[in-house]
Amino acid sequence: MKRITIAEGVEYLEAPQQESWLMNNGLLITGEEIIMIDGRFGDDETLAFIRENEVSRYFISHFHIDHVSGAWRIDGETNCRPALNKVEHKFIQSGEALSQATGYQQAGIYHLVEGILAPRMGFRCIAGIAPYELDEIEAASKGQLRVIQAPGHSPGHFCLYAPLSGALFACDLGLDRFGPWYGFPHCNLEQYLSSIKTAGELKVRQLFSSHSPMISEDVEGAISRCKSIIEKRHSMVLSKWYKGKRTVEEIAGENIFYQKTDGFGKRAVPLVSFWQESMVRCHLEYAGLDPEKPF
Ligand SMILES: [Zn+2]
Repeated sequence: MKRITIAEGVEYLEAPQQESWLMNNGLLITGEEIIMIDGRFGDDETLAFIRENEVSRYFISHFHIDHVSGAWRIDGETNCRPALNKVEHKFIQSGEALSQATGYQQAGIYHLVEGILAPRMGFRCIAGIAPYELDEIEAASKGQLRVIQAPGHSPGHFCLYAPLSGALFACDLGLDRFGPWYGFPHCNLEQYLSSIKTAGELKVRQLFSSHSPMISEDVEGAISRCKSIIEKRHSMVLSKWYKGKRTVEEIAGENIFYQKTDGFGKRAVPLVSFWQESMVRCHLEYAGLDPEKPF
């Protein structure tokens, strides 16, 4: 694993696999308390790292399944306590809460999450997971890290900025090849674009994120790429709308977001379609348009 010091007592931890849902990069804060923020390097490897480094708390940045999976093992098999941001920690306390917060329940597809995604990702709910306050991160890093609220991808999503070195840990802002992701009803495009703008205005020198390697050249370009992708998709969605496609299903059928919906197997098609439809809905909402209900 690659470790890069980005501030005094703060290291970036790079997972061996990038662009993967099964792993993500994280930060390690070594102060009076040792806190990890995200970081999945393989389930056994993550547990070993936590034990070796005597990590006492594991702060999950946001509640999406690729970040939360495996945390139940940290909870059960190490002395480290996982926690999730205050806005979202309740969402993974039970299947009921998760299925509601993601909209899977309303769409009638939570059984597919339980049957396909959860086993593949190694996900289980954590009934008693505690919340953390964002200023606990600032305090633990002795002010070396500043929290930048960056909602849109999820309601409690944030980035961490190290002003002295000019490094930004952008979490899931969408720098990887999948691009910005907003496939849940709780995602918000207006907030997302404003978060990208905020990240751009920091004029950072090094850019770190959950699923892609460090970026130190043309950082501005990497951030504005997220904005361009969203804008391009937005004009495609609107062009379908003005050509007379007035339901979310019809526009989603144009595969603007996914070339094919069976990339995770035939059984998972309703899941991928749901993500795609949610993204279409985000664009229509952002444009102030109200789709018709299909008959
Ligand atoms: Zn996410």
